[in-house]
Amino acid sequence: MEGAEEPLEKDEGSTESEEMWDLASYPLAERAFDKAKEGLAAGEVPIGCVFAYFPDKVSAEDKPLQPVIIAESYNSPNLTRNPTRHAEINAIEIAMEWADEHNIPQASLWPRTSVIVTVEPCVMCASALLSLGVRHVRFGCHNFRFGGCGSVVDVPGVFGPKPEDAGCSTKESTKFVGGWRGEEAVMLLKEFYKGENPNAPADKARKKRGRKKSAATTESEAN
Ligand SMILES: [Zn+2]
Repeated sequence: MEGAEEPLEKDEGSTESEEMWDLASYPLAERAFDKAKEGLAAGEVPIGCVFAYFPDKVSAEDKPLQPVIIAESYNSPNLTRNPTRHAEINAIEIAMEWADEHNIPQASLWPRTSVIVTVEPCVMCASALLSLGVRHVRFGCHNFRFGGCGSVVDVPGVFGPKPEDAGCSTKESTKFVGGWRGEEAVMLLKEFYKGENPNAPADKARKKRGRKKSAATTESEAN
């Protein structure tokens, strides 16, 4: 995969610990948006995501190694004619292939993997990411029609560990955090629904122009 294993440099001035790394302060954010734009050019709902793996090692200077991008994708239900082909599901498969190639068991992979995605994961994707036990999910705008991180269903709240489970499991629950470059993510979605993407195939652009989505429904119809 293009970009795999490329070390990421943090922006200057960040003093956060590894646990609290602000994923949006890395080039991860740009990569996720780049993938969303690729999706837009391909005639897909523009949602992009990136999976970053934090190696369980330290450098010679005794510092944690920088995260590496192990998977990135955009939504592809139209291209594949498979409505479950959301960016996160595609990236999960790519990440699993990467782990196989590097002999990393899934039990080690997911707790060291963080996800950054331009739009709130839908119920299906939030459930998948929670079940796998990824470390963090950082998303952009909310998805008021299908969002699984509180906008429609609070998947982590319903299906995640409960206070009464404390001590029964050593597995850390996935942390979902939204509200990152949300306006930008919404603008991309609006561009898709307006059908004004110059790179879109002409027939698709025409169809989209005929749909006349309102701004109010644009964001809610993500996914
Ligand atoms: Zn989804």
